[in-house]
Amino acid sequence: MEIGFIGLGKMGFPMARRLVEAGHQLTVFDTRKEAVDKLIEIGAQAASSPKEIADRCETVLASLPSLQASLEVATGTGGVIEGTRVKRFVDLSTVGSQMAVRIHGLLAKRNIVQIDSPVSGGVGGAEKGTLAVMVSGPRADFEVLKPALDVIGKVFFIGEKPGSGQTMKLANNFLSATAMVATSEAVVMGVKSGLDPAVMIDVINAGSGLNTASRDKFPRAVLPRSFDFGFATGLMVKDVRLCLEEMKSLGLSMEVAEAVGRLWEVVIRDMGPESDFTSAIKPIEKAAGVVVGGAKGGSHAAK
Ligand code: NAD
Repeated sequence: MEIGFIGLGKMGFPMARRLVEAGHQLTVFDTRKEAVDKLIEIGAQAASSPKEIADRCETVLASLPSLQASLEVATGTGGVIEGTRVKRFVDLSTVGSQMAVRIHGLLAKRNIVQIDSPVSGGVGGAEKGTLAVMVSGPRADFEVLKPALDVIGKVFFIGEKPGSGQTMKLANNFLSATAMVATSEAVVMGVKSGLDPAVMIDVINAGSGLNTASRDKFPRAVLPRSFDFGFATGLMVKDVRLCLEEMKSLGLSMEVAEAVGRLWEVVIRDMGPESDFTSAIKPIEKAAGVVVGGAKGGSHAAK
């Protein structure tokens, strides 16, 4: 099918590439020309603005880094809202339910359907087409979209209520954020007492402590100290803050989430928003005076 795709970053680029490779006709836009050029090389067409994409395609997908970027691309001047052909705007970004509902309301005035479709599974999942895709919006539009979304991952229909795909995604990312800092604390505790972190991770992964941080993030990016998993601390903190807001707006006060939120605020303060989110272990190591992993995957006391 004809698809517009806006935002060709760490997630957007591999998703767009898979759609081109599956035979869909893609028209793409990103503020970074080099990202657009790479997709043109494999058969996509370029557009000069979100509006131009929405003039050419009925279905427009977006994978953008901030709430403001989604709002502007969807509803700003030169945005999707001004397109003459577009019928549906599908947001693959994590923006939280309040922003999704806001965009939904603004687009509805122009008879454009907003569809939540946040994804989980990281850059590796985007490359392999194994993301969890959480869709909410009108059933009929979901049916039109599903064959395309099948190319990027396992597709779940969450419901018709605007924003519910986002609520689902925030619940998921709260768990991912928790796994990262909780596993860091567990491993730092072991290293402080003299345990080998590589052995610890093997044991946890064979035992009941297994989680996505111990299974994926520690072996690939923490123990080798490459800190290059592909998800920025700024994006993780965005999701944790959105989750806390979501809980508050439902009248909930949740203690684990609040503690996890405080820890991530320390991570963004100390490591910066551009750092990889696996750097979350560093402030915890620093407070304990140890370093986990390294060339041998072992441990040593911090200097
Ligand atoms: P990214 O920063 O790598 O990519 C964002 C892209 O959007 C960049 O190419 C940037 O140039 C482009 N962009 C920014 N503003 C724009 C605008 N106004 N118009 C057009 N293009 C614009 O971010 P990412 O890691 O790919 O994340 C994208 C979304 O997916 C975020 O909402 C994030 O929370 C979510 N997400 C990321 C991951 C991950 O592992 N990286 C996993 C799941 C979900």
